[in-house]
Amino acid sequence: MSPALAELSPSPLDEAREVLRRTFGHQEFRGLQAPVIAEVLAGRSAMAVLPTGGGKSLCYQIPSMIRPGLGLVVSPLIALMTDQVAALQQSGVAAERLDSNIDPTTKDGIWRRIEAGELDLLYVSPEGLMQPWMLERLSRTPLSLIAIDEAHCVSQWGHDFRPDYRMLGRLAQIFPGVPRLAVTATADARTREDIRAELQLEESAEFVASFARPELILSAERKRGPAQKRVVELVTARPGRAGVVYAGSRDGTEKLAQALRDAGVPALAYHAGLERNLRTERLEQFLQDEAGVMVATIAFGMGVDKPDVRFVIHADPPASIEAYWQEIGRAGRDGEPAEGITLYGAADMAWALRRTAERDVDESVKQVQVRKVRQLYTMLDGVGCRAGTVRRYFGETDVEPCGQCDLCTGAVETTDATEAAQKALSAAHRLAGRYGRGRLIDHLLGKTKDVSDHEASLSTWAIGQELSQAQWRDLTDQLLFEGLLREDPNDGRPLVGLGDPEAVRAVFRGERRIAMRKPVEGYDDTTRSGRPRKRSRETAAALSPADQPLFEALRAWRSGQAKAQHVPPYVIFNDRTLTEIAQMKPATPGALEQVNGVGEGKLARYGQAVLAVVGGFEG
Ligand code: ADP
Ligand code: ZN
Repeated sequence: MSPALAELSPSPLDEAREVLRRTFGHQEFRGLQAPVIAEVLAGRSAMAVLPTGGGKSLCYQIPSMIRPGLGLVVSPLIALMTDQVAALQQSGVAAERLDSNIDPTTKDGIWRRIEAGELDLLYVSPEGLMQPWMLERLSRTPLSLIAIDEAHCVSQWGHDFRPDYRMLGRLAQIFPGVPRLAVTATADARTREDIRAELQLEESAEFVASFARPELILSAERKRGPAQKRVVELVTARPGRAGVVYAGSRDGTEKLAQALRDAGVPALAYHAGLERNLRTERLEQFLQDEAGVMVATIAFGMGVDKPDVRFVIHADPPASIEAYWQEIGRAGRDGEPAEGITLYGAADMAWALRRTAERDVDESVKQVQVRKVRQLYTMLDGVGCRAGTVRRYFGETDVEPCGQCDLCTGAVETTDATEAAQKALSAAHRLAGRYGRGRLIDHLLGKTKDVSDHEASLSTWAIGQELSQAQWRDLTDQLLFEGLLREDPNDGRPLVGLGDPEAVRAVFRGERRIAMRKPVEGYDDTTRSGRPRKRSRETAAALSPADQPLFEALRAWRSGQAKAQHVPPYVIFNDRTLTEIAQMKPATPGALEQVNGVGEGKLARYGQAVLAVVGGFEG
């Protein structure tokens, strides 16, 4: 094509932007969407690492709609496929899924449409796709692209390794010439390398977005007393908001959900031990509900794209920083402020380390996993900006503090506790790793019951009267987190001994200072920072009181639609869109189409009804 002609014909990206506006109702591409889409439209494979909520799905949906042929999307979870396909169909996109839940008649219909070239997108599971008959049938169909969603599942350095994903490497040979796009929200440098190697993307472009999630307000606190009580406090302080609470065990989710219901919160438990229908039912209820709380194990989440989750609370800590970012990342996907709150303790860390040690994997993999556990607790118990720590962990440089996490806003103040730390370490040394933490603290306080003459004669006996028992507990926790003390599991009755000798020596020599956290007076624990709530950050504050009734009316209308169609409300319109409608009060279809999130399909489907709701409020 001559340069002059090239100027005349619209660029592929213009066409993509047109689809973005017409079908999805968004004005502009966000972040790396445009370059990723341009790469795929040019027929080249790529890998894209975009944070949760970064709009990964459009990166393959739009090219599938523009390029000739069928776009295949490989996705690890049925829930994820169901949701995305429902949302696409709402926007008028020809999308379907083939999975074990689809009955044979429907399947036949879908295949007929595939073979007639009528479908733009087909969602499949990795094991479904890699069946020989499936590959055979697809090889007779022109493909526009193959998208591999949640691509970190292919890597054993990632945190969600799925052996089925390994087979996807073969796609490069089976479908030569079809661009493949691997997308994920979470991959450190090593995992990215592994994805490229496993999926044969070594020669392809790599797009890595910033991991910043400015809408997330992060905090973490050490467990004090029963976590259940604290979680109930935190949740009841956030009434009327949808949230997810992660607990470490199935039993834990049931108990916690019950405790929340007893406190008047509409809470449901979710874990892999529940019968499948019950799981689906609860998931649907949560997606429908605007203020429901799901108490779940990590079996819940990947692919749960509910955009208006206002908080994620870890009643038990996540497994790694990757898992943390992904789980916390399920809050605030609509871009409105949301909170991530993590409860953690030294016992959680000891347990995680022990489980890692017992895992049946290569020594080298084990070492990586141990390091991941340590890095997680360093972040949780650290004193530097949480979001900043996570972003640096993912390899970002020049990271500014977020200015809104508990550490940035100073709810956690520190005092120098080097001298006390020296005492605790000496005591652990003198007691020679024969006792647990409680006994160590009693020793420091001189309170040991029936103390032996030998112990009472040690130089460390009763030298720690300046701190209370609770303060010693905090300090020993911290020394454990920092690896200065070490817990030997001893079959569930852990013994405390000295940790890394080099680091311990540095503390004794005073070269390494120990800063201890002290809680601020008048701490308001209903806010993430402990400071009084700032109205301006509240979701509702974006709406003036005058617009609130219209917003509520729109919400009620949406809720009716969602129930009638058995889809989650946000699939119809998300809160952001309803907020804009309530503010702009469009009177004509043309005005309504200007609203973010209103595309042609939805305008045709809901335009009249929405205008009627708005009209009902005029005059
Ligand atoms: P991810 O899969 O990366 O977590 P999604 O693809 O589910 O994110 O998109 C998250 C949300 O952002 C969705 O509600 C989607 O409609 C919205 N979104 C995506 N791209 C844009 C855009 N360019 N402009 C406005 N909103 C967008
Ligand atoms: Zn911060």
